Amino acid sequence: MRLTSRRGMVRAATLVTAVTLPLALAAPAATAGTAASAATGVSDVLAEALAHQVKGKNVKKHLDALQSIADANGGNRAVGTPGYDASLAYVRDKVTRAGYKVSTTDVEFPVKWEEFSPSVLQQVSPEAKTYVNPTDFVTVTPSSGGDVTAQIQVVDPVIPPAPVPNTSTAGCESSDFAGFVPGRIALIQRGTCAFIDKALNAKAAGAAGVIFFNEGQPGRTDPFEFDIREWRFGFPVVIASTAVGLDLADSPGTVVHLKVDAKTTVGHAKNLIAESRLGAAGEVVMVGAHLDGVPEGPGINDNGSGSAAVLETALKMAHLPTKNRLRFAWWAGEELGLLGSDQYVAGLSQAERDRIRLYLNFDMVASPNDVTFLYDGDDSDAEGSGPGPDGSAGIEKVFERYYGKRGLPYKGTDFDGRSDYGAFIANGIPSGGIFTGAEGIKTAEEAARFGGTAGAPYDPCYHDVCDTISNINAAALDRNAKAIGYATARYAYDLTGIPDRNAAARTMSATAAPARVPAHGAAS
Ligand SMILES: [Zn+2]
Repeated sequence: MRLTSRRGMVRAATLVTAVTLPLALAAPAATAGTAASAATGVSDVLAEALAHQVKGKNVKKHLDALQSIADANGGNRAVGTPGYDASLAYVRDKVTRAGYKVSTTDVEFPVKWEEFSPSVLQQVSPEAKTYVNPTDFVTVTPSSGGDVTAQIQVVDPVIPPAPVPNTSTAGCESSDFAGFVPGRIALIQRGTCAFIDKALNAKAAGAAGVIFFNEGQPGRTDPFEFDIREWRFGFPVVIASTAVGLDLADSPGTVVHLKVDAKTTVGHAKNLIAESRLGAAGEVVMVGAHLDGVPEGPGINDNGSGSAAVLETALKMAHLPTKNRLRFAWWAGEELGLLGSDQYVAGLSQAERDRIRLYLNFDMVASPNDVTFLYDGDDSDAEGSGPGPDGSAGIEKVFERYYGKRGLPYKGTDFDGRSDYGAFIANGIPSGGIFTGAEGIKTAEEAARFGGTAGAPYDPCYHDVCDTISNINAAALDRNAKAIGYATARYAYDLTGIPDRNAAARTMSATAAPARVPAHGAAS
């Protein structure tokens, strides 16, 4: 039976005291009735207790600290700068004092890419030919340096090119590389998927270099410069015209000389991880926010707001005898392409990933002209990307319940994998979260439901120097921080609706490789 909101509030007020008494909490969680609805009722009360304890005015104190850190460090908190390191030290100090098991994980990020001389592409055999840079081909940024002479292997092309753009799926599936001979240079047509996906598949197949070529429709025949947003291929990457691509694909056994004279300088940063000492170690509830900002400003809404709300939730949950293990994360390098969360998930074993039952993400939760967007886990909006992994729909419902009980409006936002949850959903981990809007423009319909100004951006200071403490919407911060506390506590005590992927792995002969992390909007 579901508690009415009035009774729920009364019970919650009582339990605010109870949460400081570990045994008082453990008892109802362990002895909840057999009906699932009864269990949900108890966890809902616990969740309400946390919502009550997480207060906007306390979250704001962390934001004041982050503003001071930016002020003292050249006006920003971007990864690779002292402002980021000071932000991490601030959060680390708080969670350490609160008793969490605190650790960091390494994050690499590209600092600078330099090309020292123009790249070279020559056909060695069957004909000796030198292609011209930049009319026939150009270097892809930030290609690794390399000098290789090897046979070409053409990967699943559409030749002659189809009349319609984005027809070729060349290199998009790892099966395109079945039979690929390691050490050869992959020749890959532009098409449906992102270039980074093609190049990563080529890398996995043991390629010694990649030559892309434009797909071949009108307006899609010349080489063009673009940033593939990956610097760790370890081989040269260029893109050629359609004509050069077709020329190289023409005869089997074509050998080329490919040389890129470039170097990426890599920087190092840290993710911060705080894990509770109580709760089942195999049932991890993970909650994260990116801690880095852009170099243009102090990054107080993006994403001081999510970082501070997650921190305050962690502080209020410290020492609670939760049923499940809590793991909080503050990510580095989100603004450079989700680097911290991507590298974190990539660094886990499959068994470690399976222990993460769900991931909650908070990236901008106090936008001045806000809308309460909830990641559309069930794809009920049928917009953009499909639904998240099983369990994501239930997470969206938990947030809907929080706002719904208070008569507060909310709406879905496409689950497109473009924040730190991307690596989690790509690995089958259900996810959800709140987002109050960035540079997008508030519609008249949204202004009618949520208040604020139609025709203006949700956050007029997005990625700008004015994303300061005055860019924080105090009402939204309080409301959404409470929702973060609510959802975190709900799952800390009750994983109803979240599939047990461990169990699935035990009963199935799980041989499927984990899905690869998708690209971050790289060109295709
Ligand atoms: Zn952000």
